[in-house]
Amino acid sequence: MARTQTLSALSEMRSSRRDFLRGTLLAGAGVCLPSFLDLKVADADPLGFVMPTVAQQRQVGQQGAAEVLKKYYEVTDSRAHHFKAIGERLVQALPASERNMWDFSFRVLTSKEVNAFALPGGPMFMFTGLYELMNSDDAVAGVTGHELTHVREQHWARAYANQNRREGLAVAGLVLTHAPLSLAVAAALAHRALNRAYSRGEEDQADAGGLQDMVAAGYNPYGMVQMFTALDRVQKAHGGAPPVFLSDHPNTGTRIKHTEQRIAAYGSNRQWPPFTPLNYARLTG
Ligand SMILES: [Zn+2]
Repeated sequence: MARTQTLSALSEMRSSRRDFLRGTLLAGAGVCLPSFLDLKVADADPLGFVMPTVAQQRQVGQQGAAEVLKKYYEVTDSRAHHFKAIGERLVQALPASERNMWDFSFRVLTSKEVNAFALPGGPMFMFTGLYELMNSDDAVAGVTGHELTHVREQHWARAYANQNRREGLAVAGLVLTHAPLSLAVAAALAHRALNRAYSRGEEDQADAGGLQDMVAAGYNPYGMVQMFTALDRVQKAHGGAPPVFLSDHPNTGTRIKHTEQRIAAYGSNRQWPPFTPLNYARLTG
């Protein structure tokens, strides 16, 4: 069973389009991915649909964040403060029950890659390559709200449980216990979390949840459209591969259309605050 898991984790990583960490994390993975020793016979949950708990997701996220910080240079200037302020404003606008549920953190990493991502449990990373393309705080809030929603909807944990069920682990009655994960298991799960791509449905849900959070936090929701448009422009200018942030689902036109429909659903009388312009060059000074 452990071997099945390991092979499956590896094939997932190989096929992933979200491969920004592949080089470092897979070094020696063939020999170092541990067995899933924390799996044991379940004594509850007759459906066998067992998700990693919130505490376990937070553990995986912390482990993954440590890996990320080993590989990338973390920016600590005004950009870091700016991004953190936007993230925290979005978190403050969440329902009270959720605010303390997750380990939200917001860090900026030096990389030309046009990307941002969140790990299970809450750590979020913005690459300078994406950041410098954003024209307003509202556009940054669009990226951030989207990523926060992946955490809140527990997309990684759900996918993990689904995959186990598909592979027959649930049928065999093998599930994760609710005990804290061993370091080795948390590390293996972090590998998987760092390399997985989201489904179209999950991306759509993240767009919708992110937009809702933007509105609750007082951002202009058209910032999300502005963000998609900016990334789309980059893609067209380069004529090649889409920015990593869009690469899972390159149909940006559809995402813009859905976002505009969601904004329209607030009603035509709804007034939105003006965009808060973002002068990236000034932030770096
Ligand atoms: Zn996403």
